[in-house]
Amino acid sequence: MEFIRFFASGQNEKYGILRDDKVYVVTGDIFTRWEETGESLSFFNVNLLAPCKPSKIICIGLNYKDHAEEFNLILPEEPVVFLKPPSAVIGPGDEIIKPLQCKRLDYEAELAIVIGRKARNVDPSKAQAYIFGYACGNDVTARDRQPKDGQWTLAKSFDTFCPLGPKIVTDLDASKLAIKCYVNGHLRQNSNTAQMIFDPSFLVSYVSKVMTLFPGDIILTGTPSGVGKVEPGDRVAVEIEHLGRLENPIAKE
Ligand code: MG
Repeated sequence: MEFIRFFASGQNEKYGILRDDKVYVVTGDIFTRWEETGESLSFFNVNLLAPCKPSKIICIGLNYKDHAEEFNLILPEEPVVFLKPPSAVIGPGDEIIKPLQCKRLDYEAELAIVIGRKARNVDPSKAQAYIFGYACGNDVTARDRQPKDGQWTLAKSFDTFCPLGPKIVTDLDASKLAIKCYVNGHLRQNSNTAQMIFDPSFLVSYVSKVMTLFPGDIILTGTPSGVGKVEPGDRVAVEIEHLGRLENPIAKE
């Protein structure tokens, strides 16, 4: 099933199910109990929002073999984990703002895991049951801040640095999905989630042994090779097989 969150003209935010370019409005909580209201709209008449509102975004660094090889880095034995604040989240079409203090702004196409149930100390063999679905994500990074700070919080946490969307797709096998990133229509990243070092079940389990995960929380699973910079005026698009296209323009502060 495919879930979206959206504004229709003059209305409050709503959730809907997407079927054949039609949006069927639902009420309730998409993670527990919901039902269709009977109202439907054309997909082309809604203003998409990020598909959920996470209480936190957990990010995994260096999780693609091809990306590690690109930088001649030794494959990690355990995941590299950092956080992005929920205030960084934006939806499809929203502007990514390049901060004045940032000299080099990078895109990072990533598969986003959407948590569906409260998860605490979950065994890897049971972790799939805690995954609600998947979406496209972009781990936007002020690259020049990373070495300067010695850790990644500020480089990854500016407002607008976490585009998510366009939809959450449930009941999907994410072990072998094509993942691509385009800048102004030119292909910049072209890989497959099969290149991941730590798979989604492992990551949900690993993180849940440290912090409780709540419905709607996001795990960004790392980026493949081909990372590069963008400038104001560019358009960056993350495309993942079965998950659609998440496109955002870059603007200056
Ligand atoms: Mg990343």
